[in-house]
Amino acid sequence: MLETFRFTLGTFSCMAIQDDARRYPTAMFLTNLAKDAYEPVLSESGQSSDEVELPYTCLFIDTGRHRVLVDTGMGAPSGKLLALLRTHGIEPGAIDTVVLSHGHPDHVGGCLAEAGKPAFFNARYVMLRKEWDYWMSNPNLAELPVPPEFKHDMLATTLRNLSGVRSQLDLINPETEIVEGINAIAAFGHTPGHMALEISSADRQLLFAADAVVLPLHLQFPETIGVTDHVPSEVVATRLMLLEKAAQQRSLISTSHFPFPGLGYAIESGTRWRWRPVEAVKSAA
Ligand SMILES: [Zn+2]
Repeated sequence: MLETFRFTLGTFSCMAIQDDARRYPTAMFLTNLAKDAYEPVLSESGQSSDEVELPYTCLFIDTGRHRVLVDTGMGAPSGKLLALLRTHGIEPGAIDTVVLSHGHPDHVGGCLAEAGKPAFFNARYVMLRKEWDYWMSNPNLAELPVPPEFKHDMLATTLRNLSGVRSQLDLINPETEIVEGINAIAAFGHTPGHMALEISSADRQLLFAADAVVLPLHLQFPETIGVTDHVPSEVVATRLMLLEKAAQQRSLISTSHFPFPGLGYAIESGTRWRWRPVEAVKSAA
């Protein structure tokens, strides 16, 4: 199975890394859409409309001056991020910037090493102040239609990981350049302070959308809401904004949960889009 995928963006060398994967009921991510609407789209390409496997993909970017990791995956025991970085000769101490798109456990679960210390001990951990403030308010997560034990586990994992990197944390506002060529974009909705990234090098653009889109179906049906979207009223506007931006700039899009490596383009299709994945096999390393 392909677990890492290297690609270049201008002068940046990048790698998508599959930390982990889980199966979920597809309907979780399309709560306000009838199955009849999306079933034909999936069956056309031989996919089940009952369940979907979501990879948990992290992104590594070597800008030449900085070694940046975007999200840290699930962490121990199931997360493979550290092991996969090492197979490519990247030690945790070599990462100088860790960008956290949002506080969900599949994105911050690997912030700490097993001993409870920051896994990326030389790194500045960067997150939007709004997202940090939300989690640190010890939210009751009443807005999420998920079981209480799911909420409990989510909050415990998130708070443990975020608190553990507090001494290395840099809380920023949107529209901030994190390192040269990597800019934070407000992409609120999935979580209150969810962050996307605009990455550019030598006239090439990459839009990291994180969980503003969770399934490729969100390009065809952007008005849909998932059970882990904290601010449903903002999810759709954010998604439309990002997809319009990416389609206009013809930028490559990087996602956290689309079929690995989660890279592709938003192709305009009527008033909506469809997903054109990059062909993973061609330049896989
Ligand atoms: Zn996620």
